[in-house]
Amino acid sequence: MHVPPRVIRPHDTVWMAAADLPTAHGAFEANVFHHVDPASGSVKEHVALVFGDIRGRAKVPVRVHSECITSEVFGSLKCDCKQQFDAAMAEIAQRGFGAVLYLRQEGRGIGLANKMRAYELQAMGHDTVDANRLLGLPDDAREYGVARDMLAHFGVASVVLLTNNPEKIRGLEALGVVVASREPVHIAPNKFSRGYLETKRLRMAHQLPHHPANEATAGLEGAERPARAARAGLARGHVKRLAGAE
Ligand SMILES: [Zn+2]
Repeated sequence: MHVPPRVIRPHDTVWMAAADLPTAHGAFEANVFHHVDPASGSVKEHVALVFGDIRGRAKVPVRVHSECITSEVFGSLKCDCKQQFDAAMAEIAQRGFGAVLYLRQEGRGIGLANKMRAYELQAMGHDTVDANRLLGLPDDAREYGVARDMLAHFGVASVVLLTNNPEKIRGLEALGVVVASREPVHIAPNKFSRGYLETKRLRMAHQLPHHPANEATAGLEGAERPARAARAGLARGHVKRLAGAE
């Protein structure tokens, strides 16, 4: 049967391949999509990590997660991206179905080099919002069209979004995604991430608990664990097992 290109290629997002991916959190299916960036014309690879059967379902637990190589690969403590990613994977596996949509838009969409430039400015005392503005960059350049296309690919009717960021909900809803509800992913700050998380709370309207500067916290071991994430095994021993599994 002939299918018009615009049907199988909505917004230039194309499903390419899938394979089972055993992870520390359980067996996910990694679905790779190609997306043509309309500005540069370059192709980026994005991944939908799917757990269980989400096709055609409503209220699917979904984390829309943007790449953060400094945290997720290099182990940087300046933000909580890796811990949020791990908590979402654990939560979804615990619920038995859902997806983490991993979008390749580093540094809230400004790219790795600009992220390093912003870190330099932050080391001089500017917060993450002012650093971006000094560089002539938007506070948040992320786009969610690929996430919308992925959800459409699987026929997901509505999502329970695992996020602290109301702007992400607005961004997805503006694209036609039905967000049935939001559930937070709270990670306690460490001494390196405290200022960043506080800026996100105060200046970017993220729904985060306030952690006073004199509150005792330390790295991963001080991570606040939402009850569900703790149930799903995001405990200290689990994080250590993750590290040892590489
Ligand atoms: Zn990060």
